[in-house]
Amino acid sequence: MLSYQSYTANNIHELPQFDCISPEQLHAIKVVSEVYPFRVNSHVAENLIDWSNIPDDPLFRLTFPQAGMLSGDDYTMLSGLVASNADPSLIREEARKIQLRQNPNPAGQMELNTPWLDDEPLHGMQHKYRESVLFFPLEAQVCHAYCTYCFRWPQFSGVENLKFANDSIERLVEYLEQHPEVKDVIFTGGDPMVMSTMLIKKYMQPLLGVSTLKTIRIGTKSLSWWPQRYTAEADADELLRFFEEIVASGRHLAIMAHISHPREIATPDATEAIRRIRSTGAVIRSQSPVVRHVNDDPDVWREMWQKQVQLGIIPYYMFVERDTGPKHYFEVPLAEALDIYNGAYQQMSGLGRTVRGPSMSCSPGKVIVEDVAEINDEKVFVFKFTQSRNPEWTNKTFLAGFDENASWIDDLAPAFGEDSFFFEPELMRRYSS
Ligand SMILES: *Cc1c(COP(=O)(O)O)cnc(C)c1O
Repeated sequence: MLSYQSYTANNIHELPQFDCISPEQLHAIKVVSEVYPFRVNSHVAENLIDWSNIPDDPLFRLTFPQAGMLSGDDYTMLSGLVASNADPSLIREEARKIQLRQNPNPAGQMELNTPWLDDEPLHGMQHKYRESVLFFPLEAQVCHAYCTYCFRWPQFSGVENLKFANDSIERLVEYLEQHPEVKDVIFTGGDPMVMSTMLIKKYMQPLLGVSTLKTIRIGTKSLSWWPQRYTAEADADELLRFFEEIVASGRHLAIMAHISHPREIATPDATEAIRRIRSTGAVIRSQSPVVRHVNDDPDVWREMWQKQVQLGIIPYYMFVERDTGPKHYFEVPLAEALDIYNGAYQQMSGLGRTVRGPSMSCSPGKVIVEDVAEINDEKVFVFKFTQSRNPEWTNKTFLAGFDENASWIDDLAPAFGEDSFFFEPELMRRYSS
């Protein structure tokens, strides 16, 4: 029988596995969840987490807040307030101050990516790359469970003016009609698959009338966090029929599955969900960041990509953890991320080599860490744009001085003592005004 039950800091004592959690871990969960979102559910707790191995279990690290996610000072301060049962409004106020210090809106997403229609900004949309528009449905700004490393954490933290959300499909359709160069609409969140089939149809059906739109993408973690969405929920069959309708319209329906660990797609429910989605003609691609404590191991990625290929999922992107929120706890230096990527990539047949990465989603575009090389006695990173604000930058490579500790492009300087990366003068001109 279907039984989605979610657990947060407020009802964690009802979790069947509650007794496995030590008092110190419980305290850390209460403290850190004041700053970062925490929600787990019955499927994740019963089928994905290995409770005999907490807190080291990767799926536990992926869903339960850890003390190390806050800086030592912040943790000590907030922990003191929680331990002394301080006034909840005081705790909230201090937690808010910490949130605002964690670069909640990296890479200028709000300022640089918000599209405009008739002199009005379209909040809850992003148009950064010429061919694709992101849409954040208002009702989809939650997930079936939250990932501790989530770069979209402000969406779920009540930081209202930092949140992207929109419920006007009419405005999106109008925008697409004025921008025939947009071929893909990407529904994201949160997780669009938390919505009922009726709501999903409300948002997606009108797009089938836009002839210039060729692809609908849905970014989701539901294959692992709640596969019952496709196998057991009351409107699951209707959802799959709607997927068929999208495909029958001649469009490509791409499910962009967030999968961090092979265990997530090893359950019978996930396997069945994947089978059902693929039977509609939709194509599932996978993407995920490489993160410490969860998947910082080439064998984990090899196993994950091989399993995906076996199940008919196309490996798409390996990302680098973005420079926001608890990055310091989850980050993997670029050089190590490249080793993890290559260590897995080299052990797969060509069918798994559709994947690209490690990719940084930064202000000028998506930048792949291609290689580490030595040129004229200088050790350098070789980077390559796979996506860029200026389409002419795409597929161009550029070099930065090597630093084994660097975990983001901002940590690096151009190679050979040059003043700036080739794209920087134009980026400044375009966006300083
Ligand atoms: C990653 C991303 C896309 C999609 O890029 P693809 O390389 O086509 O998958 C679109 N918009 C934004 C803002 C993105 O970050």
